[in-house]
Amino acid sequence: MIENPEDYSATVRPEVFEDMLQEAPFGICLVNTDFSVEFYNETWQRLFSARLQENSSKNLLEIWPEAAVQLRKLAEQLNQSESKAESEILPFNSGENGETATFKIWMRPVTKDGVFLHYSLVAFNISGLQMMRYKGQQEEERLRLATESSDTAIWDLNLTTHEIDYSDSLAQIFGYSPGEIVTHEQLRSHLSEHDRVNVVDKAFERALETGIYRYEAHITDRNGVDKWIFTNGKLFNDQHGKPERMLGVLQDITERKKSELRLQQSHHQLNTAMDATNLGMFEMNPETLEKYNFSPRFLEIFEYDPENEKIDTHIFERHIHPEFRHVRVEALHTAQETGDLYYQTKIILRNGKEKWIELYGRLSPGVEGRKAYIAGTIRDITELKNYQEKLSASEKKYRFLADVMPQAVWIAEPDGRVNYFNKFMLNYTGMSFNELIDNHGWLQMVHVEDQPKNMSRWLHSVKTKEPYFFEHRLRNAQGEYRWFMSRAFPETDEAGSVTKWLGTSTDIDDMKRQEMQKDDFIKMANHELKTPVTTIKGYVQLLKKTRGDSPDKFLVNSLNTIEKQVNKLSSLIGDLLDISRIETGTLPLNMRDLSLVELVTETVEDIRASEDCHQIICNLKHSEDIEVYGDKERLTQVLNNLLTNAIKYSPRANRVFVEIFIDGNDAVVSVEDFGIGIDAAECAKIFGRFYRVSGDDEKTFPGFGIGLFIVQDILQRHEGNIWVESEKNKGSKFYFSLPVKATNF
Ligand code: ADP
Repeated sequence: MIENPEDYSATVRPEVFEDMLQEAPFGICLVNTDFSVEFYNETWQRLFSARLQENSSKNLLEIWPEAAVQLRKLAEQLNQSESKAESEILPFNSGENGETATFKIWMRPVTKDGVFLHYSLVAFNISGLQMMRYKGQQEEERLRLATESSDTAIWDLNLTTHEIDYSDSLAQIFGYSPGEIVTHEQLRSHLSEHDRVNVVDKAFERALETGIYRYEAHITDRNGVDKWIFTNGKLFNDQHGKPERMLGVLQDITERKKSELRLQQSHHQLNTAMDATNLGMFEMNPETLEKYNFSPRFLEIFEYDPENEKIDTHIFERHIHPEFRHVRVEALHTAQETGDLYYQTKIILRNGKEKWIELYGRLSPGVEGRKAYIAGTIRDITELKNYQEKLSASEKKYRFLADVMPQAVWIAEPDGRVNYFNKFMLNYTGMSFNELIDNHGWLQMVHVEDQPKNMSRWLHSVKTKEPYFFEHRLRNAQGEYRWFMSRAFPETDEAGSVTKWLGTSTDIDDMKRQEMQKDDFIKMANHELKTPVTTIKGYVQLLKKTRGDSPDKFLVNSLNTIEKQVNKLSSLIGDLLDISRIETGTLPLNMRDLSLVELVTETVEDIRASEDCHQIICNLKHSEDIEVYGDKERLTQVLNNLLTNAIKYSPRANRVFVEIFIDGNDAVVSVEDFGIGIDAAECAKIFGRFYRVSGDDEKTFPGFGIGLFIVQDILQRHEGNIWVESEKNKGSKFYFSLPVKATNF
């Protein structure tokens, strides 16, 4: 065994060294201080062959001029008592294989017994090495760029010291500025308590087992901004298998999370909507018509057990009711053109039960490798269909009933367009259904004089939703007109909106004619009665004038009684005439400004003159005069009527109170008696035509029951009002009000 290399070298023959030197895988060259070449080996010669061929010089600096500066520098270093100098020499075309090469040069002094002999140069072609290193740098740069630009940070955690190395973008994700030093603990403090314990620590435990460290967690960065991060790392153990460090990337995935959340929300909304509408979902291959991806509700509708049963991809073909096959085929055909699939069909379940379903599908074009498909929904509409069937059955029944009815029945839309008339109307008018309903065609059969009012009354009801009542003349198929009373009532839904108008038109022609005859009779009777009564009145007055102071008491009393009764008679005749005028709307009013106080006092005075049983006490509560706009004669008639009633219906009392006062914008006159009074139930009715309170008392009080009817009409036409407060056997207080002329305020 050789213990000393010196000894070893002594044993080796010098040719061996020379061979070794010549064939060494690096170039060796001995130069003098002026870089003249003393020796080079074969490798050197090969490396520099091109240069050596074209250059006869023996000086290395001339052979290799581009390295001259560096070579001199190396020599200088050695002169400054360094034993070895090394350098990378600029690349040059060595000529070895025509490529540019880079050399690493080691330079040493060669001495013998302390005397400098040469410089030895060892040249090593490092081109391959350098390329690798260069490539490595590029990779790193590329990685850095890739990671820094996509919100991806790199980190390296020492598991023993917990020191963490990270790229700038990691600091930025956590809200720190680039370059700021942050500890691992600090970074952890940005995690929510929940995620630190349940997500990150758990992920670490998993990493200890699997070597993979991966999690998504929620952080609040240093500026208080909420973010989501994703970490993907790897665990490295030391040579003893103990976890040593962890390397990984960290990404800001807030945007992705947000859109995931939005997606989740819209999925949730969609599902909720689907649940609410009870829609079942499926998908279908538009070419093969195979169905798949059935939702639980879909299977529920078909009464399949989604857990335990395999569903046929041709479920519709299997269950569709044979009578509806063509409906489906047609719908599929249309879907090919429009992309929309829609049909309603009956299906037969496995237990024989039948159901109605409505199917809707839309073609989704194939994207990103996914084939085109139809996304579809189905809805169980059995109940709806049954209801519709029942409804149409009952509608049929009612239409039939309406048709056999001996009066006109019609239905109108909420906007007033009539869309149905029963047979009676078609037969009566001789018009066709369409003639009647198109463009308010029914108006043609209304008498031309009634048309404008008819239309405005109908449109008024449509607008206000108030019931409609109207008397008009309708032309029959023979061209004759008959009077009809038309009525319509709105039918409303739960929200109070009109869904339709239900109308009837009743033939009241006979009644109307009788009434007209009655009116004619009254008019005629009135006229015929008026003449004799006026004559009697004239003679009585003449007699009173000439014989009024006669000592014959009987004569005087008789004359007074005749005068009183004739006055009553003439007022009754007047009332009868008024009532027919009111009904025909021809009661004339002679409107002008007048003093209400004066009117009341005069009327009261007149009554007082002919009345000796009752004292009429007048109380003017308003200090000034009250001006109103009206017909003096008619308003006098109003008060007169109330006063005579008060006297008539309080035979046992001896006082009647009259008051005048102002209430808001109205002047109010009240007449109070202490007589028989009126039942609360009757109070509203006494203003009706010919209404008289039924009871024993009334029989003893003569009258027609038309006075208050006329009074109310007169007041309404003055935009006034009348009402009563009364108590049976205590007395009544009648009020009437009139709008006050603005100058009174
Ligand atoms: P008439 O007095 O001619 O019967 P009106 O129209 O004046 O007709 O009155 C209608 C009904 O109202 C009367 O029949 C009577 O029953 C009741 N009525 C009117 N005024 C009074 C009153 N002051 N007290 C009690 N009942 C009255």
